[in-house]
Amino acid sequence: MTTSPPAGAEILDLIRRPDIERSDIDHSIAPTIRRELESAADEHLPLDHPVRINKETVRRALRCEAHLVAHLGRDVEPPTAAMIRGALVDRLFAQRMVGFPIGADPVSDALAAADASDDRRLRALWDDLEPSEQEELRSSVTDMAEKLSSRWPPLPPGAYPRLQNTARIELCDGQIILSGRVDLALGRPSAEKVGTTLIDVKAGTHRLDDRDDAGWYAILETLRSGAPPFQVGNYYVPSGELDLKPVTVEDLQRATRRVADAIARVVRIAAGGTPRRSPGPLCPWCPAYEACEEGQQHIRDRDEATGEWLGDLDEDEWDDEEGPSDD
Ligand code: SF4
Repeated sequence: MTTSPPAGAEILDLIRRPDIERSDIDHSIAPTIRRELESAADEHLPLDHPVRINKETVRRALRCEAHLVAHLGRDVEPPTAAMIRGALVDRLFAQRMVGFPIGADPVSDALAAADASDDRRLRALWDDLEPSEQEELRSSVTDMAEKLSSRWPPLPPGAYPRLQNTARIELCDGQIILSGRVDLALGRPSAEKVGTTLIDVKAGTHRLDDRDDAGWYAILETLRSGAPPFQVGNYYVPSGELDLKPVTVEDLQRATRRVADAIARVVRIAAGGTPRRSPGPLCPWCPAYEACEEGQQHIRDRDEATGEWLGDLDEDEWDDEEGPSDD
């Protein structure tokens, strides 16, 4: 059974959640998170230079330390068409949030909004695309703009929208800098109760990392404001899904452990430690793959195991006198 995505008042209800009582702010949470994150780095301080950590750094450090280092040493890759589409949709979402209608040519609207905020890069990237790529992007961005226009309601007074809400947190006397920017923050805590909702806007589909990223934003917001957010999650423009989850103490503890683990790895490497290799299924997409024996061996072993398994399956199935089963 398919259900239609939320629209209008349903979206506002999912943000406000009148059915959920706001919890009291536990003022000990932010200092506890800070202490745990700082103590993860302790062993390897002081550093010669501050390290900057964002959500991608966390993700890469936890996946494979050598993978993180390979990325750091690489020239910045040109943005993909999907990234340009995401940047265009972010602009349109912002336009919608401040109450401006999206016109008949959403790409032009998005580029004009970027120009107006002195972001010349987006137009340059657009101009560099092949005409066929522009046509394809224009079609998908127009489709998403129509969905946004028909689903997202005007925000009511008192929503306190903050677009591209940025957080920059210094730990260990500025030797570690955590930073992040969430597309939309709404509401705010009162003196006693949590109240902020953080939403990241996605121009694509669900990814496994999205929930972890939500935890990252929850940590940043807690450290920045001293109060945990009420809800954190993602809005998927193509499907219209608004995946918001109230933030619990357990969520914050889990996210803190994850970020502390990443900080410990990054700081150890920054202090001169050897990056560890953790081969996995994503090795072929790693910039170090061509020179990484562990990664290549892992993929060879995996392919061999898959081949053996398929071989066993063939024998089991086809040596059977009754032939393959339809089960
Ligand atoms: S190829 Fe795999 S093991 Fe090697 S550095 Fe990259 S992610 Fe790590």
